[in-house]
Parts: sequence; structure tokens; C-alpha cells
Amino acid sequence: MKRLFVCIFLVVSGLSLMDFVSLHLYSAWGFYAHQRINRLAVFTLPKELIGFYKNNIDFVTDNAVNPDERRYAIKEEAPRHFIDLDNYSDSLRRKMIFWSWAKAKESIPEDTLYKHGIVPWHIYFMKYQLTEAFRAKDIRKILIISADLGHYIADANVPLHTTKNYNGQLSNQHGIHGFWESRLPELFAENYDFFVGKAVYEEKVQERAWQAVLNANAALDSVLSFEKKLSKQYREDKKFGFDERNGQTVKTYSREFSAKYHELLQNQVERQMRASVKMVGDLWLTSWIDAGQPDLSKEKVYVKSKEDMDAEVLERKSWLNKIFEVRREADN
Ligand SMILES: [Zn+2]
Repeated sequence: MKRLFVCIFLVVSGLSLMDFVSLHLYSAWGFYAHQRINRLAVFTLPKELIGFYKNNIDFVTDNAVNPDERRYAIKEEAPRHFIDLDNYSDSLRRKMIFWSWAKAKESIPEDTLYKHGIVPWHIYFMKYQLTEAFRAKDIRKILIISADLGHYIADANVPLHTTKNYNGQLSNQHGIHGFWESRLPELFAENYDFFVGKAVYEEKVQERAWQAVLNANAALDSVLSFEKKLSKQYREDKKFGFDERNGQTVKTYSREFSAKYHELLQNQVERQMRASVKMVGDLWLTSWIDAGQPDLSKEKVYVKSKEDMDAEVLERKSWLNKIFEVRREADN
């Protein structure tokens, strides 16, 4: 039944299957910010590496949202994007920063870890995988993992990715997630200063990942309290307005309300985006150095082979099948 409904919906709306998936699974920083962060990170790299990434800048940009497209289709995917720190005590948090994934599993049941999110450990794991890809000089893998790693780093820097109240659902602020990480960057990021300096080698990758999460979490109180405060001053019809998106009129936070909120946050979104860009550049560089600095200067623009493209189409089709399976179960 669901499948039939989706087919009819697609025919009527004129959307492709991937448009449908993208619309329904749209989350985290939003397409705009994720793509911008990966793209800007390229310009932090040193001369030995920047040429390779510049040649492939469209790849790391276009694929910046791949992990979000997978998250409802692959069971393991969703927990990689967040960590609900409020489920852990302060004393436990202080210890966790130093735990490897193996140590974490020894100390806390694995299903609890997954339930509350694993983003800091996953960043470390992705960095390891990127180092391996550099070592093997596997260009396709280097680019895919670089794009993915950039995504997870960006998510770790979002305050609402560090709490169980991730969409304001526990404080009657439903929708604040997309407001902060999609609406605000889309409206204001053009004026941000993205000069973050040169990428540097990061000796302590896992601690860096945790630091990002803790910094983001420290900003959470302002994210929630300023929206609450401002909402008391605005009538509903002033708080929300209508905007054109993909040729459709959608209800969203009004420009005036967004501007006021953005002002109250005092460059917070800009700070978090800058931190993401810098960290992405640092960890791409670190992976390359740890792999022995392979020479990539002769590598041109990566072009997908026919086999790679066929495999991707198959993989995406399998995601759709799994999505429908999940929905059918949820109907019961
Ligand atoms: Zn994400």
C-alpha cells in the first residue's frame, strides 16, 4: 500500500525517487551548510594536498550529505550523527572523552551507546579509514570518506546534535533543529567570515572530536533559551511566514524572527561553521600525514567508472526498499 502511495505521489509531484528521499530525510546542518563546510575546508590545505582536493572539490561538495541520505535506510547510520550528552552524568562524560570505542563498550552496554549516539567515536573511526585509503592511494575511497568525515565533523559541531531534546520536542520548541542549522545559515552565511587559517596536524583526534561535541553542547543553552525568550515577544503569525522552496510555498520561521534570533546568538552559527571547516581541513590533512604523505599531485579529476555508477544506483535502490520495510513495520 505504502509503495503504491509513494508511486502515485511521485507521478503527481513529478519528483524523482531521490528527490523524494531527500525531502523526507532532510536533516542536520542542511544541504547548504554541509556542502559549504566541505568546500571551504579544501582551501585550508597545504600546497602538497590542495591541488588534489581542488581538482575534486565538486565531489566532496556534492557528496557532503550522503550520510544523511543513508540514515533511515541503514540501521547503524543514524547514531553516527549525534550524541545525547544529557543521558550521561558529568563525571561519566569527563571519563568518556578518553575512552576508545573498545573501552566504551566495556564500560557501557553497546545498545545504550548506539541509542544515545556515537559521533565522537565515529569521527575517529572515519579518520582511521581515511588514513587507510590514503595509504592505499585509493582515490575513490579517499574522496568518499573525506566527504563523509566532513559531514560527521560538521554534525558534531551542532549544539542540537548533543542533546536528547534535539528538535525542541521536550521544551515545546518543535522545529528549532532545522531553524538553527538550515534556516539561519541559508539566510545569513553569505556574510560570514570563513577565513579560518591553514589546516594543522591534529595529534589527538579523539579528544578533538570530543572537544567539538562539548563546545557545541556548551552553546545549547543559548540556542534554546533565546528562542524561547523571543517567542514570547512574537505573535504566531509574525514568528512564522511563508517562503518559496523548490517551487513550493512552505511555512517557515519569518525573516524578521530569524534575524532577531540570529542577532541574539551573537555569531554562534558562524562560529560553529568556522569550527567545522577548520576541523575538517585539520583531519583531512592529519589522515594524509599519518599515511606517509602519498604524492597525489599527478591525480586529476576523479571520474566515476561505469561499474561504480551501477553499484551506486543499486545501493540507493536498496536504501529505498529498506525505508519502505521500516515504514511497514512502524505501521503495526
Ligand atoms: Zn548528519
